[in-house]
Amino acid sequence: MTSFDLTPEQRSELFEMLLPELENFYSNTGKLRVTAILDPEEIRRVIRRADFKHPVDIKEAVKNVTEALDKYIVHVPHPRYYGLFNPRPNFPSIIADLITATYNPQLAAWSHSPYAAEVENYLISEFGQKIGFKPVDIDGVFATGGAEANITAVLCALDNTFPDFANEGLLPLKGRPAIYCSSESHHSIVRAARVSGLGRNSVRTIPADEKGAINPEILEKTILSDKSEGYIPFLIFGTAGTTGTGSIDDFNSLSSIAGMHSLYFHIDAAWGGAAVLNPDTKPWVSGIEKADSVTFDVHKWLSVPMSASMFITRHSEILGKTFRITTDYMPKDAESLEITDPYAHSIQWSRRFIGLKLFLSMMVFGWDGYSEVIAHQVEMGNLLRSALTANGWIVMNSTPLPVVCFADENHKADPAFTRKICEKILRSGEAWVSLYTVGNISTIRACITNYKTSQEDIHALVETLNKARSEF
Ligand SMILES: *Cc1c(COP(=O)(O)O)cnc(C)c1O
Repeated sequence: MTSFDLTPEQRSELFEMLLPELENFYSNTGKLRVTAILDPEEIRRVIRRADFKHPVDIKEAVKNVTEALDKYIVHVPHPRYYGLFNPRPNFPSIIADLITATYNPQLAAWSHSPYAAEVENYLISEFGQKIGFKPVDIDGVFATGGAEANITAVLCALDNTFPDFANEGLLPLKGRPAIYCSSESHHSIVRAARVSGLGRNSVRTIPADEKGAINPEILEKTILSDKSEGYIPFLIFGTAGTTGTGSIDDFNSLSSIAGMHSLYFHIDAAWGGAAVLNPDTKPWVSGIEKADSVTFDVHKWLSVPMSASMFITRHSEILGKTFRITTDYMPKDAESLEITDPYAHSIQWSRRFIGLKLFLSMMVFGWDGYSEVIAHQVEMGNLLRSALTANGWIVMNSTPLPVVCFADENHKADPAFTRKICEKILRSGEAWVSLYTVGNISTIRACITNYKTSQEDIHALVETLNKARSEF
């Protein structure tokens, strides 16, 4: 019988081959094309060479995979990937994923993986304190991403507002529960409304102001008029760093509106939450500590591999109230020890040790290491803004965070012009940027998501843009 373990010789030969190869990708990412070959036929043909009837040697199989990955994915860890908040993973966090996969700790019951569960609790507590929550109040859970953390928020808010929700669901309610967020907020909020049974129409979208932030006056007016029309307002979603323009809502205003109307207040800080880790950027998200809970992605600005996010709250009982289910087959240690079973706090049941990649990174780099990385990326964002402005581009968004939406000064009314430049850059493979409409202007969006993006990379991007523009 074949051994799923492989033999010790096969394993060591594999590592001898694989480690230099991964190291080569990691240290030379910047020499590859950023963008991928998008030919579905070719890609499927390559994949289907594996027929599952003729087993191949592990080294050949691995080679197959890495060669295909080199060609057929956008290289998110590339310093010229100016993309969607996906980072270059720091090296300790990569090792953490390897360790996690090998030990495979089970994070459903605390007693199966007490070390792993307590590492995650420690991180939640430490990051909760960075947000500004009081240590005694803090609770939270690791999630696969911001989308899961946002669904967690909607469910917690429902359980918080409607005491019978856990047993009765939404049916007995006399009106339609309403969630408030801005027109710039992330669409995972709509998803959260749909999967929680509320439906798309429970999301009340408030227009953003010229800075891309929620307009508090319109918010308040809408809440009042909604109440008179039979809605039951229950949740305000603020955003710290919108996906399109990096806008930050006014959390102090949102918090006081939530307080006045007894609404739950959640902040989606999937990307921008990391601003709390640097003393100079922390004031940008002032008021974040007033949220009832926060979505804080680990796999964005904290530079670890997917998938990792945190849902952090200052209501220590709310996750248990929302997710606890007891069954005979699960261990009951939580009844006798002062501990929490992770499965009683999460949408997930069997769960991976998501927190290790953050723990190992924090052990190696510490708060100061993260603070420096945040400062560097903010500086690169500022450099990009000034270099663009000096080269006849006009910056259309307004945020201190390192995401820049811009158009050509003379062609900003022409979306086709902007689109052609973007397409040209993607085809060249020299950088990855995207399109985003700000106001009614079509812009190119470039976000610094990589701690290794340097001044040289920024100048190269501007040069690539200038060149593309000169060819039309
Ligand atoms: C990325 C993002 C999300 C979704 O998070 P995932 O980690 O991709 O699931 C939600 N909100 C904001 C503001 C984001 O930037």
